[in-house]
Amino acid sequence: MDRRRFLQSSLAASIAAALPASQAMAALQALTQVSGDVRAVTGNGAEISLEKAAVQELADSLRGNLLLPGNEGYDVARRVLNASIDKHPALIVQPTGVADIQNAVRFAGERQLLLAVKCGGHSFAGKSTCEGGMQIDLSLFRHARVDPDSRTAFVAGGSLLAALDHEAMAHGLVAPAGTVSHTGVGGLSTAGGFGRISRRFGLTLDNIKGVDIVTADGRLLHASADENPDLFWGVRGGGGNFGVVSSFQYALHPMQRQVIGGEVVFPLDRASDLIRFYADFSVQAPDDLYIDFYINATATGEGSGAGFHICYSGPEKDAEKVLEPVRKLGEPAFTNLGPIDYVAIQRSWDYSDFRNIGEYLKSGFVNEYPGSMVDAAVAGFEADPGRSTMLYFQQSGGAISRVPVDATAFPHRKALSAMMVLTSWPLGTDGSPHMDYLRDYWSTIEPRTDGYYTVDSGNESREVRHGNYQGNFPRLLEVKKKYDPGNLFRLNANIAPA
Ligand SMILES: Cc1cc2nc3c(=O)[nH]c(=O)nc-3n(C[C@H](O)[C@H](O)[C@H](O)COP(=O)(O)OP(=O)(O)OC[C@H]3O[C@@H](n4cnc5c(N)ncnc54)[C@H](O)[C@@H]3O)c2cc1C
Repeated sequence: MDRRRFLQSSLAASIAAALPASQAMAALQALTQVSGDVRAVTGNGAEISLEKAAVQELADSLRGNLLLPGNEGYDVARRVLNASIDKHPALIVQPTGVADIQNAVRFAGERQLLLAVKCGGHSFAGKSTCEGGMQIDLSLFRHARVDPDSRTAFVAGGSLLAALDHEAMAHGLVAPAGTVSHTGVGGLSTAGGFGRISRRFGLTLDNIKGVDIVTADGRLLHASADENPDLFWGVRGGGGNFGVVSSFQYALHPMQRQVIGGEVVFPLDRASDLIRFYADFSVQAPDDLYIDFYINATATGEGSGAGFHICYSGPEKDAEKVLEPVRKLGEPAFTNLGPIDYVAIQRSWDYSDFRNIGEYLKSGFVNEYPGSMVDAAVAGFEADPGRSTMLYFQQSGGAISRVPVDATAFPHRKALSAMMVLTSWPLGTDGSPHMDYLRDYWSTIEPRTDGYYTVDSGNESREVRHGNYQGNFPRLLEVKKKYDPGNLFRLNANIAPA
């Protein structure tokens, strides 16, 4: 199978999906004419009516767009990557700058509207769109600038990771970011940021020098180690709980352009011995080796397999030795492991069409790999012709684990990997049996996990959600009470202030 077909039909196709091209083309529209009062809901679910004049005033206050149901672009903006999420905000603001964000946040705050903030739209649970509230869609607010002298990237809060990777590498610099380049900086950087060079340089959030953020009262604040340090601490791990980040300032590191990376895939029946190899090999890997493990069964069988995604960014002369244990696993069914441009590998899992699939996932952090856990992971994995299923371990550790637990709000520093199980099915068919299967499967693995990545927060109880912040929760609660006491920003891994 050639590389392109493999990527389209296997792991990459399962986890990587892109925004519709039309969204990237979204543009400024003529001023919206509001024709009547707008029915909406508050954060507490109460139905309210927004007066026509007030909504028109909001539209007039923007340089960007105000979109109401029926307006051109509304249906693209409200959508997120997970196509099974189908919500209809009462109104959508598409800011072009900070002033628009402030106007939108003030409007929502004064009326206690349900408020969703969308950057790349990758939230699986669909937290970046909403039913009946306001959505702030940051897709018109994208740019990145690099200052090579201070090794800093200044990235607008609606940008995608691709901009950061591309602009920084043009100067021979990098900041660690996620593995799919159309993920938004907004959701990823405020929650964590695991990626191909995070074991060398830490999570994306460990590399934030400062942010500009519009808080619930509509103020624009700068947060850094010297200014509003409590907010700076909280925004690095507290997700979207404290406001809309309009600018991220990232520390950059010199790195060579060429790395060694790609896939090494074996037939599904090797899953059991490969996972055992991974449990042993990955924990001893040097920081400059990033290795993920997956088992993937596609609906058609094409592209199914068990294998590794690798990115080695260390000295070229050591590559052979570092990767030798992988080569000794035998002849793979497919491999494209080899020298590759860093920006190219960062894009290699991107997907450029609209995916007509529903998706459901469960995830957790793994702090050790006991035999019982790897057995359960393989034993419960089923290939079902009606769906695609994937088990995936994204490697953590290295520099991530050397940051003290309380240095940022992100507490899961001990994790060896962030693991997930995912099922997807064709849209228009009933997803419930697939979700039921996944819940059952997950129940055999979950007891061996320790908390979960906040980006995967769904409808779990408040106790579970708060508990997942572990020892950092009390401090996060104080920051939440100070900057968002009314819980305007609640569509996230929410810290409930009351
Ligand atoms: C295909 C795919 C691959 C992924 N790969 C990785 C990976 O390699 N590493 C990794 O760490 N994670 C990965 N993730 C998880 C990803 O980091 C989260 O889903 C993240 O929330 C996506 O950010 P977004 O801006 O695209 O999401 P959105 O859905 O736009 O936003 C999610 C939430 O982030 C908050 N938010 C967004 N923008 C802002 C902002 N400017 N200011 C404040 N809050 C904001 C809001 O609370 C919002 O609800 C992946 C997800 C997918 C779907």
